[in-house]
This record gives sequence, structure tokens and C-alpha cells, in this order.
Amino acid sequence: MIIAANFKTNHTRLSTIEYLEKLDNFLIKYSIKDEVFVFPPFTALDIYNISDKINIGVQNAYPAYKGSFTGEIGLLQLEEFKIKNIIIGHSERRHIFKESNEFIVEKFKFFKDHDFRIIYCVGEPKSQREKGFSAVMEYIYSQLENIDLNYDKLIVAYEPVWAIGTGLSAKKEDIKEVMDALREDIKAPLLYGGSVKPDNAKDILSVKNCDGLLIGTASWDVDSFCEIINISKMLAEEK
Ligand code: PEP
Repeated sequence: MIIAANFKTNHTRLSTIEYLEKLDNFLIKYSIKDEVFVFPPFTALDIYNISDKINIGVQNAYPAYKGSFTGEIGLLQLEEFKIKNIIIGHSERRHIFKESNEFIVEKFKFFKDHDFRIIYCVGEPKSQREKGFSAVMEYIYSQLENIDLNYDKLIVAYEPVWAIGTGLSAKKEDIKEVMDALREDIKAPLLYGGSVKPDNAKDILSVKNCDGLLIGTASWDVDSFCEIINISKMLAEEK
């Protein structure tokens, strides 16, 4: 399984270091086999003194090596910290920052060309969900247009917009329906994201074709994130 923590605009440089040390000790102590990602804010990036059990990535970046892009971070800055993982197309980038699908595709192509592991996020707004399953899939496929689904470092995260940060996760059956449909066209790992917490992680991780979780709120507390990783470990042992 892949278990990823998206810090968004949370944690400082100091609290990120403390978090990563605690998480690293947990992963080592319990011989965790899951692939674990952490996406801290830019200001907390560093060459951390942690094992290779944690993959560090960025929540966003500008598709250029360097240049005049005020307020943005490019490849030059990521190289300094040996970053090779990125989230692209997160719903907060699409909706709050009005990133167009065209721009998101440009980012995808740029970071693919630079060999990044890409967590590419898709997911429908509530209005689309209310129209039913076909409308949901139509929306998701429009977000996948011009994305190379055969890219070997692609991970797709299905994150219904209405479930992100709301405390209201999608139902297990709804997640399954979307994952099954995506699996027909996508070999890449499929993650679910949207109000995952220790309480519902077991149910969601047991969904067929769900290869892991992208977690916001419940990942900000290291104990809660470790609890979810532990649930994944127990599930794997049950199999
Ligand atoms: C996210 O931001 O990707 C996310 C899934 O957030 P939350 O877990 O808070 O819903």
C-alpha cells in the first residue's frame, strides 16, 4: 500500500523535523513495508536526517527549471533538496487557485520529463456526484485527458472534492465503483483521498483496487498518521 500525508499549509520547519523523526522511528520499529510519502510545506524542506523509508515530496511546483515566476518554486529549488515526488492537480489547486486542466497537464508533462513520481489527483465536485455515476466518471476522464496513463511513475489519487477536509468520506461502495472503473484503463496505483481517518481507514483500504490513501487532516498529527499506517499493516497481515 501507499500511504501519503499532505500537510497543506500546516506545520513549521521545526515541527516537520520532529514529525519526521517520530514517523521514521515508527516505520523502522514496526518494519513497515508500505510506501510512505510526506508532503511538507516548502519552507520546511530540508535534507532530513531520516531513513529512506520516508519519501519526501512537494504539494506543488512551477513547471520550469528557474526564471521569473514570482512566488513560485521551480526544479532548481527542488533539486537542492533532492525532491523527486510531487502532487499535481490537487482539488485545492484546481478550485482555490483556479489552475486550469491545461496548466495542470503542462505541469504533469514537465515533471514527467524530469522523472518525478507524480501523485495526480482527480475527483468530482458535489454537483457532479449528484448527477450519478456516469457523470462522475465523465468528469474524472476529462481530468485525465492528455495525461500519460502509462507513465511508470504515475500514481492516481481519486479525491471527491466534497469529501476533502469536510469530515465526510465517500461511501465504500462509491469508492469501489470508481476504482473498478479506473482500473480498467489504469495500471498505476490508485489511491483514495477525502476525510480518511483512523476510524474509516480499514474499510477504505479493504476496497478492491484501492492501493492506498492520500491523507490531509488526519495526517497532520503524527500519532494519527502512524495509527493509519498500522491499520494498513494489520490488514496486510490478515491476508
Ligand atoms: C487532501 O487534501 O488530499 C485530503 C484528502 O484532505 P483530507 O484528508 O483532510 O480530506
